[in-house]
Formats: sequence, C-alpha cells, structure tokens
Amino acid sequence: MILATHSPMDNHAKGYNMHSMRPDTDIIIVGGGLCGPVLAIAVAGTGLRVTLIDALPVATRRAAGFDGRGYALALTSVRMLQALGIWDERRTRAQPILDIKVACCRTGEGTSPRLVHFNHRDMEEGPMGCVIEDRFLRAALMDAVKSDTAITQINEHPVVAQETTPGGITCTLKDGTRLRGQLLVGCDGRHSGVAVRAGIKRIGWNYDQASLVCAVDHERPHNGVAYQLFRPAGPLAILPLPGNRSAIVWTEDRTRAGDIHGQTPEDYLAALRPVFGNFLGAISLAGGRFLHPLDLSLAVRFIAPRVAIAGDAAHGIHPLAGQGLNLGLRDIASLAEVIAEAARRGQDIGSVAALRSYETWRRFDTAGLAAATDGLNRLFSNDCGTLHSMRTLGMDVVNKVGTLRRIFMREAAGLTGDLPRLLQGKPI
Ligand SMILES: Cc1cc2nc3c(=O)[nH]c(=O)nc-3n(C[C@H](O)[C@H](O)[C@H](O)COP(=O)(O)OP(=O)(O)OC[C@H]3O[C@@H](n4cnc5c(N)ncnc54)[C@H](O)[C@@H]3O)c2cc1C
Repeated sequence: MILATHSPMDNHAKGYNMHSMRPDTDIIIVGGGLCGPVLAIAVAGTGLRVTLIDALPVATRRAAGFDGRGYALALTSVRMLQALGIWDERRTRAQPILDIKVACCRTGEGTSPRLVHFNHRDMEEGPMGCVIEDRFLRAALMDAVKSDTAITQINEHPVVAQETTPGGITCTLKDGTRLRGQLLVGCDGRHSGVAVRAGIKRIGWNYDQASLVCAVDHERPHNGVAYQLFRPAGPLAILPLPGNRSAIVWTEDRTRAGDIHGQTPEDYLAALRPVFGNFLGAISLAGGRFLHPLDLSLAVRFIAPRVAIAGDAAHGIHPLAGQGLNLGLRDIASLAEVIAEAARRGQDIGSVAALRSYETWRRFDTAGLAAATDGLNRLFSNDCGTLHSMRTLGMDVVNKVGTLRRIFMREAAGLTGDLPRLLQGKPI
C-alpha cells in the first residue's frame, strides 16, 4: 500500500487496527479526482479525520504540462475554492469569463447573425466565472490535500468491497486491506462502484453524440468572451484561457466524432476550422486531444445507510452548459455543511437521519439542471425548420429583455437557489 502522507507502518504505529471495531477514520472518500479532494479539504477543516482513496497514482491524475483540458467554473465555485484556501491567483492562473455569446446555425447556413450577448457589466457581481486549466486545478487540489495533516491518502489502491456494520462501514482495498469509518463517500466518477455496492440505481440514456476536447491557439485576442455555438450535430463551446488560447468542447454525432478523433492533427484542424470560423484569426492545436462519449446518468438516491455519493458518481450530464463540475462542487458544499452540522450536534455523521438533508438539498437542483441541459440539447441539436424559427425567436426575446438575460447570467454564475455557506464564500 502506498500512502502519500504516511507509510502503512506509520498508520499502524498511530493505532490503526484493521480488525478492531474502532473506526480507523471518520470519513472514507473513494475517488481523488476533482470532487473527492475538495470534500476531503472541506471536512478535514472541521476537525474530522479523513481518508482519501484513489485507484490511480498521483502522477497519473496530475497532468505534468498543458494537455488541452479546461473547466468553466461558476463564480460560486470559485468563491468556494477561495473559502477553502485552494485558490491562489498566481498559481491557478484562471481566465475570467467576461461575456458569453450564444448563437445557433443550420446546416449549410453558417452562424446565425442573431447572437445572445451576456455581458458581465449587466451583473453587479462582475464576471460570471472563469476558465481554469485542468493541470492547475488538479495541482492546487493535490497540494492542498498533501499539506493537510488531517487527511490520509491512499493511492494506487482500488476499493473493491464495502460492508455496513452496526455503528460503522468497512471498505476493502484490492490488496485485502480493510478500513473502517463512520461514513463512506463515493466521489468515484460516472461508474461509481460505491453506488453500485450500496444498491443505488441509476436512470439515464445515451446521447448519440461524443465531445471532442482540445485547445487552440489563435491569432486574435478573445477578450475574455466564451462562445456557445449551437449546431445541428451538437454544440461547440469555446472557452477563453489565458493568452490567445481557448479550450474547445466540440460535440458531434458519435460516429463522426470518433472518425475526427482518429485523424492526424492536420486533418483534425481542417475539420475544426469551418466549425470554429475565422473570427479569432488563424488557429493551431495546443496540447492533447480527448474524446468523451456522452450520456445522461442520474443516481435515483444520493444516500444509503452510511453512504453518500457526490459529483459524477451522482450525476453525469450533457457538457453543453459546462456545469458538470460546478454541480459536483455544489454537492460537496452541501454535504460538507450537513456533515459538519451533524458532528457539531453530536449526531452520528453516517446515519440516514443526518444524511437525508443532503439528499433533499441536492436532488431537485440536479434533476433540474439535467433536464435543462437535456432539453437544450434536443431543442438545438437538430435541423428542423420550425424549431429553428422558435430558437431564433427565443434568442431575440432573451437578447431584448434585460431581466431575462440577467436571470440566465445569475444561473450561469451559480447564484440562484438555496446556496450552502461554502458557495457563498463563507466557512462551514
Ligand atoms: C467533454 C466534457 C467537458 C466538460 N467541461 C466541463 C466544464 O467546462 N465545467 C464543468 O463544471 N464541468 C465540465 N465537465 C464535467 C467534469 O469534467 C466532471 O463533472 C468532473 O470531472 C467530475 O469529477 P469527479 O471528481 O466527480 O469524478 P472523476 O474526475 O471522474 O474522478 C473519479 C476518481 O475516482 C477514482 N476511482 C474510480 N473508481 C475507484 C475505485 N474503485 N477505487 C478507488 N478510486 C476509484 C478514479 O481513479 C478517479 O480519480 C465536462 C465533462 C466532459 C465529459
């Protein structure tokens, strides 16, 4: 077993006894991707002992250089990372999203001249969010986890089993090591084993689409503008990164996306150019290229006895609004607050009674966003003439009515709904 902060001997020396009924830790988090580390940092700050487990080595999860991946983080997600001390302007090097421009087009017609323009000057809070490169976000998270003495990390060890016992839950690693805690949280991604083993079922369907993810350098500055271009095959998102560079999430029909992904960089660029347009001048590829087949996958429960799930383990939605990670961070902020309050009251943090408020808090928001992204994808990803007229009419209305524009902007910034304290930038 490889422990990032302590050797296995250190843990036994500290009194860990895998065979006694005494918990080794308070909270076991499975999944050290993006949501797991944020939860570990949030709950460790309340004095609880946390063990964070991932199947992969840190070096594999932490990209060494720029690889083309970036996330649009809502304003409230940034506030949360700031409140947790994870956000360091000099290291995270994020690009504020000043404006968002949305357009739609039909096959063979090019981009519609009707643009909806969301201007940050219309919102008193300022920019709706920012775009951060995957490498900077992961590095910030992993450094914060490493330096937190309340967090024990176990890497390169998949969790293969879990068992709820009176007063606790035990999980078993592939090498047979068993770990006992009060609460097990699954942040283990779309194919969450924690959810499956807890008997949590999922609903959803495949989109016959896949997203091509890459970054491009361009001649002209983006001026902090993010673009969402709705096309019949699927949306194209252009997210501004520092400098004359943008991250691309380019959705196509699944077969065509696979074909494009398999092409040489030159042919890939040749396919991208007509979709991207030339408003930012000449473009060239920067970093790597990724392919993500898309589906909708929602867990029907977010909790089970001594188990909670969060992030992609609880929901995988269409990436067209760039909200997947933001949704996960909203789970984490709510769950951390629920756990901290239960611990303060002296309540059992793994009990269904304590966890129920987490599920109630998150299910409505999650289902709403999943339905919204699904509906938008259906409305915009087609070539139907009637729907095109409805879309352009709708876009004209949003563009003309300032109140409507501000509602959409506040939604994109994550400022709507019953916000947990961390999303308000306050400690839990
Ligand atoms: C094309 C695309 C573009 C996107 N763009 C955006 C965007 O702009 N903004 C945004 O907010 N979101 C975006 N998202 C969504 C975002 O990428 C995800 O929501 C986010 O990465 C989920 O993080 P997570 O920590 O929940 O899961 P993951 O990052 O999947 O982490 C899961 C971790 O669990 C570990 N694990 C799995 N099984 C086990 C096991 N048995 N034992 C131990 N460890 C295990 C894995 O090794 C992994 O490290 C996008 C998604 C896609 C597909």
